[in-house]
Amino acid sequence: MKLGVIEYIDSAHFIPGHETCGNMHGHTYKVEFIIEGEKKETGMVMDFYDMKSILRRVLSEYDHRCLNDIVEYPSVENICESVYNKLRDKIDMPFTLRIWEGRGKWCELGTTS
Ligand SMILES: [Zn+2]
Repeated sequence: MKLGVIEYIDSAHFIPGHETCGNMHGHTYKVEFIIEGEKKETGMVMDFYDMKSILRRVLSEYDHRCLNDIVEYPSVENICESVYNKLRDKIDMPFTLRIWEGRGKWCELGTTS
């Protein structure tokens, strides 16, 4: 079974050396966090409250920040990898992370099928 939550962060960044994205600008990033596991005796795979708090705790490091201070080259691929690695330390089940950079563009990383 899969379970997902969505959170949003607002962050600034620039892509060094990029013709149009080289100027500092901002995005609202939509962050989808999807776990996969068996339903437990509680009737839940995981409590949504716990999923949200894990995700929020990790994202608080990125929200309302300049992402260049956190990720050297903050392409959505590198941001996704950075958030993914922090989530992996906090959860011991397969999950997928999909980060939308504004509308219509996303990067996904994960182990769920
Ligand atoms: Zn951008």
